Amino acid sequence: MSTTSSVEPPERSLASSPEPRPPFPNTPFADIILRSSDGEEYRLCKATLAQASSVFADMFSLPQPDDASGVADEQKDGLPVLPLSEPAHQLDVLLRFCIPQMPPTLDDLATTVSVLEGARKYQIEWALDTARAALVRLADEEPLRVYAIACRYDLKDEAREATRRCLRVPMTSLIGAKVEELEGINAETFQRLLAYRQACASTVVDHISSASWAWINTGGWVWYHRCCGYSDDWVSRLNLAGTTVSCRKWWDDYMKDVVEKLRDCTWEGALSSCDAMAFFLRGNSCEGCRAVVAEHISQCRQTMKAEIVAAISSCSYIFVSDLQ
Ligand SMILES: [Zn+2]
Repeated sequence: MSTTSSVEPPERSLASSPEPRPPFPNTPFADIILRSSDGEEYRLCKATLAQASSVFADMFSLPQPDDASGVADEQKDGLPVLPLSEPAHQLDVLLRFCIPQMPPTLDDLATTVSVLEGARKYQIEWALDTARAALVRLADEEPLRVYAIACRYDLKDEAREATRRCLRVPMTSLIGAKVEELEGINAETFQRLLAYRQACASTVVDHISSASWAWINTGGWVWYHRCCGYSDDWVSRLNLAGTTVSCRKWWDDYMKDVVEKLRDCTWEGALSSCDAMAFFLRGNSCEGCRAVVAEHISQCRQTMKAEIVAAISSCSYIFVSDLQ
């Protein structure tokens, strides 16, 4: 079986074309010029654009008998010119999702928002998915900004992720934050975040400081037993839940520190700034207890992390739209 069909580029000289803007190829198959609002031009294939964007697909399929291009009034080098309202720095990123090349990595919020807007406007699905994934990633560094952006664009999953990251930010920092993106949401939406932040802090602190630390109260932990070499590091006091706790003083001091840190930064990672062994060594440095203390601290920390995660999960963030 043989075929005689082949794909020939149209009769158009590349020599007359301007240098392409990387990474956009100067293809002889280009059949449209997209022009940015600031005058940059992109020579691309309508079929490729139409595959990536349903808006371009609809635009190019509109029957307009008076105009060979179907979409443009202006011609340049025999190609229709389609003026777009986005500036080149936005189109550069967005159009990379429309050509068969590696898409750009979205590692800053400004670019991500630009892609988000363009992807929604031109309905470029995978650019939208990429921008949404980038939002979640960037929430680690900029949780409040991502929260505001996600709420503004009604991206609930991403907004929820951002609320979880906001738990790591002290309440005072959230309230006092100077974040431009907050102007894009209403006061009630910001209040929802603060309410969630406060609910999580209360729930976690109440649980971790619950009566006699009920979540670890097996009684077998080393801090519930008097030290072999010291007898003056034993405390009995009312804990936050109003229950008398008897334990080694260093452990009591450590748990006070944990609770304070969790109040400020309500997530399991806050434990990394609380050094239980340092409290033990400060209180006494009994060599007889040291090994078992280290082991019990390690075990307890894992349990406490899981308890914190579970307590946070028990709190719901409620969108303003779900309240109505
Ligand atoms: Zn000891």
